[in-house]
Amino acid sequence: DSSSVKGKTFIIATDTTFAPFEYRDASGEMVGIDMDLIHEIAIREGFEVDIKAIGFDAALQAVQAKQADAVLSGMTITDERKKIFDFSDPYFQSGVQMAVKEDSDIAGYEDLKGKTVVGKTGAEGLSYAKSISKKYGFTVKALDKADTMYSEVQTGNAAAVFDDYPVLAYGIAQGNGLKTVTPKVAGGSYGFAVLKGDNAALMKAFNKGLADVKADGTYDKIVDKYLKASN
Ligand code: GLN
Repeated sequence: DSSSVKGKTFIIATDTTFAPFEYRDASGEMVGIDMDLIHEIAIREGFEVDIKAIGFDAALQAVQAKQADAVLSGMTITDERKKIFDFSDPYFQSGVQMAVKEDSDIAGYEDLKGKTVVGKTGAEGLSYAKSISKKYGFTVKALDKADTMYSEVQTGNAAAVFDDYPVLAYGIAQGNGLKTVTPKVAGGSYGFAVLKGDNAALMKAFNKGLADVKADGTYDKIVDKYLKASN
């Protein structure tokens, strides 16, 4: 039962920057929807967390190497990943979209012919870009970090970036100089992940805490706190 997590500290691996889900605020502290959620759930369920902001792919690797207990990083629940990880109940509906520079005349995937686009190593945005790259004749470059991924587009080294649409929308609202021109591609939902068959008590405690914060309005408050700022 979830009482077995009481007083324990779990290492939670996350991305370096995936605003509004995880990012560093002005004082250097990791904040965001995922961060508020895990801190709130940990308090309620009586466990401690040690957040390691190491990058998305690195986070997935760390859990597989048992160097971290869980991934909480806007990680999409997919059948492929379910072979390796156990996921919590879904906590946020998402999907992929493309963004280009504000002054770009790219108006659709057809305009990517001969060009290079970027996506994050191990992420759904990269997989989606790869899945349509042959059809539209563009090259896909994988990058580990969100900040380099975005600067490649801002400086014109890459024609477009493929990332999750809530993250693109947040960055655009914050004035990152990009725009979206293609429709959102419906994807899965985000889940908290542990290595398959491992950390069952932690998973149970997460799901219990998630249900509680959803039921009493805390979940909505957390999401609103970060998404209101971008709307
Ligand atoms: N939701 C995407 C995925 O799971 C991206 C996650 C991220 O970049 N942190 O692949």
